[in-house]
Amino acid sequence: MHFVIIGNGVAGIEAAFAIRDRLGPGEAKITVISDETDYFFSRTALMYAYMDKLDRRDLEPYERKVYAQKQIELVRGRVVDLDAAEASLRLQDGSTVAYDRLLLAVGAKPRMVPFAGLDEVEEGLVHFVSMQDLDECERLTWSTERAVVVGGGLIGVELVESLTHHGVEVTFLVREPWFWPAALGKEEAEIVAEHIREHGVDLRMEEEMSEIQVDDAGRVSGVRTNLGDEIPCQMLGVAIGVQANVEWLQGVSTPPAINRGVMVDRSFRTTLPNVWAAGDCVEVDVGRRPGLVETIWYSAKRHGKLAGLSMAGERVEYHPPLFYNSTKFFELEFTTVGDCVDVADGATTLFRKMPGKPISQRIVANERGEVIGFNMLGSRFDHRVLEQWIHDRRDLAWVQRHLQEAQFDVEFGRVPLSKMVEKEIA
Ligand SMILES: Cc1cc2nc3c(=O)[nH]c(=O)nc-3n(C[C@H](O)[C@H](O)[C@H](O)COP(=O)(O)OP(=O)(O)OC[C@H]3O[C@@H](n4cnc5c(N)ncnc54)[C@H](O)[C@@H]3O)c2cc1C
Repeated sequence: MHFVIIGNGVAGIEAAFAIRDRLGPGEAKITVISDETDYFFSRTALMYAYMDKLDRRDLEPYERKVYAQKQIELVRGRVVDLDAAEASLRLQDGSTVAYDRLLLAVGAKPRMVPFAGLDEVEEGLVHFVSMQDLDECERLTWSTERAVVVGGGLIGVELVESLTHHGVEVTFLVREPWFWPAALGKEEAEIVAEHIREHGVDLRMEEEMSEIQVDDAGRVSGVRTNLGDEIPCQMLGVAIGVQANVEWLQGVSTPPAINRGVMVDRSFRTTLPNVWAAGDCVEVDVGRRPGLVETIWYSAKRHGKLAGLSMAGERVEYHPPLFYNSTKFFELEFTTVGDCVDVADGATTLFRKMPGKPISQRIVANERGEVIGFNMLGSRFDHRVLEQWIHDRRDLAWVQRHLQEAQFDVEFGRVPLSKMVEKEIA
């Protein structure tokens, strides 16, 4: 049986490995097709390559020989058509690939809106999602004195940090009143904002780009903001979110059902026969409308594994894990687990901050007093311990007594709770 996977990101590769774990080479031929890179790489580490802290090869989590050992064939090419009636794919180079079971693990694309002046841009506008984006960022950096980055999410701050690292002066425009509102409360966001500004970044909240300006050659030369300010720049990073990479699938011979992503059930089956989908490109039907769109690494990984098992014939049922993310804002460590923002009425929030230091903790409990979320800033915490406490429905007082057990290591120092100041959150 021929298993074909489009996309060699974390969802695609996890699926390939899961299939191979269940079915030997005599039972399953596995082909992974990608138009981006020859080998799977860690997208979350792109910024470290941009900052020259890692070689591109270091971004690859597996040794290259692993694919040969597991007899997984890697094909570099772009799929442009899917014909489910013929169980066949067409690639951009005109070749065709027949499949018995197919996985769409085609990821997400940068979101874009028709900014005024966009049509005039020939050069200087970058995103920061793909390996080709990294190439373009690197190509432009040497000729960039000032850059503007638009969009207050994780990818935006990573781009800001990378540019700053190379000595580029950066203006960071964030439309929202605070940074990364999907995960940070206002209080943490203020600490993060201060930290970003301390790195010399011109961070402007509640200010957005209204027009892109270009020079005679079509290179970005500046942006105008909604407050009427004009900011000269030679590079413009647009990081206003990502969306499922499904536009191309709408035009294929037999498109699957698509909403905000390819629609799948809890076993990652699409509406097409013998076609599954997983990772950033899907919307999972979890019994409510709209379905679940996650676009985060650990979910894509889990999707891929379960989709692979399902393709190999196992019964699987996806239940989304607790929300979890761990990142750094420049040097500031941040771990978030569970529900911390937009919590239901009746929830209690404990927020405390270390005076004079960029360290804070937010612990949220539901109306029964059971802890449901943690936002830990400025010090490393082991998310597995925090997750376990949520699963165990520990109460706030218990969690406070045991908090240091979740501190990851002593590298960053213990946080003396006695020195932290509590703030009441309505
Ligand atoms: C800069 C950055 C930082 C991030 N940081 C975090 C983080 O800290 N925490 C977190 O949880 N998440 C983070 N994410 C998100 C995370 O990386 C993604 O959720 C995850 O990589 C999605 O994996 P995937 O396998 O679904 O898709 P992808 O990794 O996007 O892989 C899809 C692949 O399919 C290929 N493809 C698409 N269409 C075709 C086609 N027609 N033919 C052939 N190939 C095709 C694409 O080129 C791509 O290689 C970050 C993302 C970025 C960009």
